[in-house]
Amino acid sequence: MIPYGRQHIYQEDIDSVVDVLRSDFLTQGPMVPAFEQAVATRVKACHAVAVNSATSALHIACLALGLKPGDTLWTVPNSFPASANCGLYCGARVDFVDIDPATCNLSIPALEAKLDFARRHDCLPKIVVPVHFAGQPVEQEKIWQLSQQYGFAILEDASHAIGSSRHGEPVGSCRWSHITVFSFHPVKIITTGEGGMATTNDDTLAQAMRLLRSHGITRDSTLFRGQTAAQAGQSSPWYYEQLCLGFNYRMTDMEAALGVSQIKRLDHFVQRRNDISNVYSEQLADLPVRLPHVAQENVSAFHLYSIHLTTTCKDEYARIFNALRQDGIGVNLHYMPIHLHPFYRELGFSEGMFPNAEKHASTELSLPIFPKMSQEEQLHVITMLNKHIMR
Ligand SMILES: *Cc1c(COP(=O)(O)O)cnc(C)c1O
Repeated sequence: MIPYGRQHIYQEDIDSVVDVLRSDFLTQGPMVPAFEQAVATRVKACHAVAVNSATSALHIACLALGLKPGDTLWTVPNSFPASANCGLYCGARVDFVDIDPATCNLSIPALEAKLDFARRHDCLPKIVVPVHFAGQPVEQEKIWQLSQQYGFAILEDASHAIGSSRHGEPVGSCRWSHITVFSFHPVKIITTGEGGMATTNDDTLAQAMRLLRSHGITRDSTLFRGQTAAQAGQSSPWYYEQLCLGFNYRMTDMEAALGVSQIKRLDHFVQRRNDISNVYSEQLADLPVRLPHVAQENVSAFHLYSIHLTTTCKDEYARIFNALRQDGIGVNLHYMPIHLHPFYRELGFSEGMFPNAEKHASTELSLPIFPKMSQEEQLHVITMLNKHIMR
């Protein structure tokens, strides 16, 4: 089966991890800050906080932004459930904003309308989580403008989008948001096995997330606030304080070493993904499918090559999907709308609430795309699409 995505590991990556295994520190060593520095520099953010997954990053980002019971978080239905679950972890309410069918990203007019309604009913969100679907950057500057008007925080889920940019601004620079989150799961653009990162330009948010990822505990005497703080510090190296209820969400040094090595190839990976995407777009132009469109001002990291069947019939979708799988093409659906999972239905969501995301899910196919994909593999995918999708 040709998978929809997979990692590309070089000998240098392996050497980098093995070096850590032979070193003094498997965790809390020098590779974690080195990887954080590499990501911060690359995406032009002041701070980067490494954690063990994007899911953890979303959780501590919400906590750092002050999300609590009684608050509301909004995201899109067209995402992985983690984009919404982070709100529930904090005891907040979760709601959704429908997508724009053209970009498959959060619809700005839908957001604006929902904000207007929410203001009149006194239920404005505390946090909005836009998702850069497939790597295509969201129109962050427009959401930023709305955030100034309505007073919410912006947490970008850029799990698909390290290496993407908009108007030359890298996704993750937080120019138009408070915090951005990346995932380094093996199907994403670069990998650490499991792993995630939160970037921000806000010193206070960065400090809060550093505390939250490691039990809420610090050894930094400038942060101490206990009774003994005065006596502590330089002369009491045994002393540390827990300042809030944190977690163990730390990234290991093996993971960070893999990240340091992988990020050196980020440009190459994004180029390869764009090359593969261009071949698909050329070769599939005659099929009755809608191909992904990247806006002029955007560079997409192409985490996914996402097409839409223009046949709307459910049986036809299933027939094509199953036939492709049978012929060794690891097509996937991104995403089953979050609000239609049984868990979310039990919270009161149902069919018909977010029609664009639902329509998207009934026609979307993610084709295999990954840097190591061979010409032969891509040709096989194209041949099988031609065989199974009727003109
Ligand atoms: C992969 C993914 C996540 C979760 O990432 P993990 O690192 O596996 O926790 C969250 N949101 C989106 C949009 C993703 O694609």
